[in-house]
Amino acid sequence: MSLILKAVENVPLIKKGDDIADIICKNADIADKDIIVIASTIVSKAEGMTFREEDIIPTAEAERIAALNGKGSRFVQAILDESIEVFTEAPFMLVRNKNGHVCINAGIDGSNVGGGFLLKLPNKPDNYAAAIGRKIEEKTGKKISVIITDTNGRAFKEGQTNVAIGLYNIKPILPWVGEKDLYDKVLEISEEAVADEIAGAANLIMGEGGGGVPAVIVSGLDLYTDEAVSVTEMYRSKERDVLIRGLLELKDKNE
Ligand code: GDP
Ligand code: MN
Ligand code: MN
Repeated sequence: MSLILKAVENVPLIKKGDDIADIICKNADIADKDIIVIASTIVSKAEGMTFREEDIIPTAEAERIAALNGKGSRFVQAILDESIEVFTEAPFMLVRNKNGHVCINAGIDGSNVGGGFLLKLPNKPDNYAAAIGRKIEEKTGKKISVIITDTNGRAFKEGQTNVAIGLYNIKPILPWVGEKDLYDKVLEISEEAVADEIAGAANLIMGEGGGGVPAVIVSGLDLYTDEAVSVTEMYRSKERDVLIRGLLELKDKNE
């Protein structure tokens, strides 16, 4: 078995209103069951999710948090506006964004944006993945999957990796429960987070800087599904998440 990852070349700097599906189709050969990995940065740019920090008006709550973490209160307000729950306020803001994704700063980022703008994450990433995916399917006549990604830190470890934040035609988790291991022992827990693994692999080609590769075609995997999928299938509920509960207890104690 072999896995092939190919950069989509010649993608321009994306502006509001650009047709990402069209740009990808013009610059890539797409086959059935290919997985098209797209950096959230270009989806957000195409959706016009840029804003200027100075245009945000901070609330008293943002001022309070800004005094704790040393970030600008306007930036803190922008994070609060994108979040439904705050797990840590300082030294950094770990939040659950409106789509249920837990990340630092609600994913608001100024890198690879330009013009002094900041960029929010796409607010309905599964919907954008589906819209781009359907358009690519119409144009190519192929059945494909889409993963929209963002670069995130991890608990316990230094370094960041790309993760899936929006999906189309691919289940985020491949269950191994009930399968046998090498020695016929039945697996009881293993679930492989394939969407995140593919996101991480694609980032080996995207990089984080000025490489200009916001989309990667992944071929050779058999993970296509035409069932409805959502990235939220892999978001652990608070009841099952020991770390999140611990962070919330800590926050309660500090208040
Ligand atoms: P994020 O992980 O979604 O926040 O995106 P990054 O800022 O890490 O960018 C991922 C890749 O996409 C890098 O190779 C960037 O150079 C590239 N990239 C970002 N925006 C654009 C764009 O508008 N056009 C092109 N061609 N590449 C871009
Ligand atoms: Mn990002
Ligand atoms: Mn990145």
